[in-house]
Order: sequence, then C-alpha cells, then structure tokens
Amino acid sequence: MNKGLEITRGKTKALFESPEQPDVAVMKSMDSITAGDGARRNVIEGKGRLAAQTTARVFRLLNLCGFPTHYISGGEDDDENEILVRRCQMIPLEVVVRGVAAGSYVKRKAIARGAMLLPRVLEFFIKDDANHDPQIEPDDIVARGVASPGEIAAMGEIARMVFEVLAHAWRRRDVLLIDLKIEFGRLLSGEGKGSLVIADVVDNDAWRIWPQGREEMMLDKQMYRNLQNVTPEALDQVRTNYEKVAELVGSFPQMRTGMVALFAEDQRNLDAAGDVMRHIQAYGLPLGRHVASSAITPQYIVQLAQQLDASFARLVYVSYGPSGLAAMLNGATTNLVVDATSQSPDVAAQSVAKAFALDDTVLFGRVMLTQANMRSALLQLDAQLNQPHQPPPGVAIA
Ligand code: C5P
Repeated sequence: MNKGLEITRGKTKALFESPEQPDVAVMKSMDSITAGDGARRNVIEGKGRLAAQTTARVFRLLNLCGFPTHYISGGEDDDENEILVRRCQMIPLEVVVRGVAAGSYVKRKAIARGAMLLPRVLEFFIKDDANHDPQIEPDDIVARGVASPGEIAAMGEIARMVFEVLAHAWRRRDVLLIDLKIEFGRLLSGEGKGSLVIADVVDNDAWRIWPQGREEMMLDKQMYRNLQNVTPEALDQVRTNYEKVAELVGSFPQMRTGMVALFAEDQRNLDAAGDVMRHIQAYGLPLGRHVASSAITPQYIVQLAQQLDASFARLVYVSYGPSGLAAMLNGATTNLVVDATSQSPDVAAQSVAKAFALDDTVLFGRVMLTQANMRSALLQLDAQLNQPHQPPPGVAIA
C-alpha cells in the first residue's frame, strides 16, 4: 500500500499516514511477538501476515454485524501485512471481557481457573507499560479525563456484545472463547467525527481460546507466554497455532445463504405485511413474496411449500393472514413458520433472524445489535416521559 509518514509504532505494529487521505491511516503488522510488557521478545517469520489476516477477518465480521470499527479494507492479499483504517484518537484503555476465569483474573480473585463467568466480567486497564497496565475503575477513568461516563458505558456494552459474537463464531468451531481484549478510539475527522469505534487489532494475541474447552489445547498467545525455554521448535509450534487460527477465522465473515418466504392470504394482507418485510430485509435476508389463500387456493399453498422446501437448504416461512394460513403452512413444511400477523413487525422479523442466527454469526451479531437498539430506544422513551415538564418551543415562560 501507498504509505506516508510514520504516525506511531508499537511492539507489534506501526501506523502510517495514507497519502492524500487525511481521514485514513495504514496499519502494518510486524513479525514480532512479545510478552511480559516487552520483557520477552521474538520474531516469527510470517506472523505479521497472519496477524493482519486475523484482524482483517475479525473486523470484517464486526463490520458486517453493524459494529462501529476503524477497519476499512486490506489485510488479505499480498499487501505487506497492511490494513487501511479510519484515523482515530486512541483511548488509552484495554477493555477486557471474560467468560471463563483465567490469566490475571485467577491471580486476583479467589476463583478456580476454568470457572464459567456469568454475567461476563468487564474490566478496564489503563495503558501504561511502566506500571504494567494497571486495572482502573470507571470513576477513575472519568476523574483522569480519559473517557466520559457515556463513553465508558458504550465501550462496556460494545465490548460485551463483541465478546458474545466472537464466542458464537468460535463455538461453531468447537472452540471456547475464554477472554478478550479490545481497544477503542474516537474518529479524528470525516463522517462521524468524534464517535467511538473499535480500533487497534483483534488478533490471536488479544484473546484466549481453548479448543473443546480444554486449556492444554490452547491456540492463542498464552502458549508463547507460558514457554519455559523459547526454542526454535517452540516458536515453530506457535507459528503453526497462529496459522491454524488465521485459517479458522477466515470463515468468520462468511454469511450462510438463507431464504425467507412470505405467504400472504390476499392483497390486503400483503399490504399489511409491508412493515415486517422491511424489518426482515434490514437484517440482510433475501425475501420472496407469495399470495396463497388458505380459503381459496389451499392446494397451491402445499404445492408452493413443496417447491420451496426442495429448492432452499435454509428456509424460514412467514405467514400473514388468518390463523388457518399458518396452520396449513406448518403442516406442509418441515421448516420453521413464523406467524407475523398479530405480532409487532420488529419482533416477528427478529424471530426469523434468530432462526438463521443459530449457525450464522453475522446474523447473530445483527440480532444482538438490534436488541440493544430496541432496549436503548425504550429507555430513552421512558427518560423523556419522566423529564420535568418542558414548555413547547416558542412558548414564553411567564
Ligand atoms: O492477562 P489477563 O488475564 O488480564 O488478559 C485478559 C485478556 O486480555 C487475554 O485474552 C489477553 O490475551 C488479553 N490481553 C492483551 N493485551 C494485554 C493484556 C491482556 O491482549 N496487554
């Protein structure tokens, strides 16, 4: 990639200006691997390539779900391990989410390694190598002017959701996500200037992953941290693990093709189904529409369902009309039928999306984010209702 001046350099990556694109930077991953705040340091040839691939694939998944991230493109091809990102002002915090007790958590708490943590534990650490990145409480983050209370709440909520999305992706590959560290920045310029995005990297250095839930099978950087002797053979094994992880993460952003078939009883029901169709399409699901009447063309319902069942591997039906339509469809197909007629359109669409989310992590993330937005819309509505009475604009206060 075309690079300008170096902006900054860390232990495993460097950031460069992107010529003629002031809102954009080039992030280059290097072959170094470090542990103990840089006390241990090695070079593994090809590690930068694998780190760039892993980060790009994770960020593409997160972007597809609808999370705000700094990732634009790159990291896949023969592009010198470089990724194009939006320029950010980094917030000097490491935001850690834990689903299983391990690492520094078991040293600090009286808890067995491997214990399931529910609800997930959220921790903030301030970036300060000289003091070994100490843990910091939200009040202190605000007192030191590092981030506002609103930003802390948003970082926590986003980090928890990112953890669940990645845990879902790993679970589908029979790997248990133990914990995860992410970092945030504020967009420096351009669209959305000042808003929070997930930044830095999310690669095999930033999480713990245990295949089959077995610690001794770990594939992440902890294996390097644990080495008694850093031999060339041990480093080869580390590289092999990083290769395996980059490959597994390769399919994280792949959506599985699915199909939604909407059956409306008649024109009136088809019109009434407009809202639910829009909500379904907002999840990125392809939708086919049919008018088939349980009262007038019952055989056509059975025939259409047979045709659709034979054509699509992943298919969900939505019925809109009298209860007889849903009942007929249910009898005609082995696939799920969601009767959207008497549900609110967003809830019905969510049921459809949830069916696909079982084995599609992009949809899983979209459902999570939609739920979070529904929650926050309701909380805002309640807050508005309970605000002290505001005179309408233009009315003078006596
Ligand atoms: O060491 P600790 O248990 O606090 O780490 C929690 C998670 O954060 C682990 O997944 C670890 O890989 C990650 N981490 C990181 N960078 C650090 C410290 C921890 O990516 N500087």
